[in-house]
Amino acid sequence: MLMNDHLVAGMEANLLVSPEQASYVMSILDQFEIPFDIVSSDFQSWIDEVDSLNEINKQKWIADFESGNKRKPDFYMTNSEINAWMNDLANDYSYATVSTTGTSIEGQDFFQLDVDATIVSNPKHVYINGGIHAREWISPATMQWIIHEVITGTSDDAVRMRENYIWHIPPVINPDGYDYTWTNRMWRKNRRINSGSSCIGVDLNRNWGWGWDGPGSSTDPCSDTYRGASADSEPEVRAVEDQLMAIGGENIVLYMDVHSYSQFWLVPWGGTTEKPDDYAELKAGGDAAAAAIRSVNNLSFLVGTPPDILYVASGGSFDWAKGHAGVKYTYAPELRPASAGAGGFVIPPENIDPSGNEIFAGVVANIDFAASNP
Ligand SMILES: [Zn+2]
Repeated sequence: MLMNDHLVAGMEANLLVSPEQASYVMSILDQFEIPFDIVSSDFQSWIDEVDSLNEINKQKWIADFESGNKRKPDFYMTNSEINAWMNDLANDYSYATVSTTGTSIEGQDFFQLDVDATIVSNPKHVYINGGIHAREWISPATMQWIIHEVITGTSDDAVRMRENYIWHIPPVINPDGYDYTWTNRMWRKNRRINSGSSCIGVDLNRNWGWGWDGPGSSTDPCSDTYRGASADSEPEVRAVEDQLMAIGGENIVLYMDVHSYSQFWLVPWGGTTEKPDDYAELKAGGDAAAAAIRSVNNLSFLVGTPPDILYVASGGSFDWAKGHAGVKYTYAPELRPASAGAGGFVIPPENIDPSGNEIFAGVVANIDFAASNP
């Protein structure tokens, strides 16, 4: 299978092939003189190794939790574990609430943590969703880190963010797909049964009704970038849309849809090579985030539009949030790692804490820029 979401001329392609097919595929590449590297000669054993590291961290965390040390999770949780964890936080902190974001295509409710400890009048809202693409596990885990920091953090930044903004963070807005990745690790889409096709799933980041059905999205239900039968057809997408409309775009200081991997801080528009009128401000906000990230762990995040640094991608969340809902500052970060060779979607749980640290710093810098450049 092709591991890239989408390919354009000149891009590096990442292929996952079965052991039976590997020598055949390499002979074809040789025949056409296409250069290649072998990133991993046994990807399943890499997945298994990361899973076993996860289990070790999980057992330690549970032991600490049960003895009253409710530190940030440093392992990948299942959907139901995340929900239980959020409910526990909401039990412990009066200004934290768990609410239902929506109901998935398979009828599963999914949830978010809302934090309102504001001490200012007319506070703005921050809306950050994770887990729109099922296999991007570092996304929900990083959302959990940020949730924990916003609720319990004692740093100046954490306190300032808590006291000045109302936070809404659904860490997994594709719960069916996320559940499915615990047995099929590379799944991306939701689990919609597509009429007239045996292929499952809609790409939830091609389904939003702003520039829907444009370039960089597929009409083929078997494609990983299938846009869905109609704009906003997927309940997971509509659930977030309804919330953004209810809050009101002008009341939202920052909207982010968090992905992995590549280390990008993507700026609208995704669906067209045109730039928004206020692109310079959005880019500067992203640059502030990238500078803050670099100062934490010295990682480089590239800032720009998908067409400029990746490829055109229509029907995405941040285009809709800006174009339809009217949020000025909308972004789609692609978290660590930088490459498939560094693990791609499957990275050890030791990455969770540094990812949370650096992305929270980026979010704070981006919010500060947005608030002073309304
Ligand atoms: Zn993604």
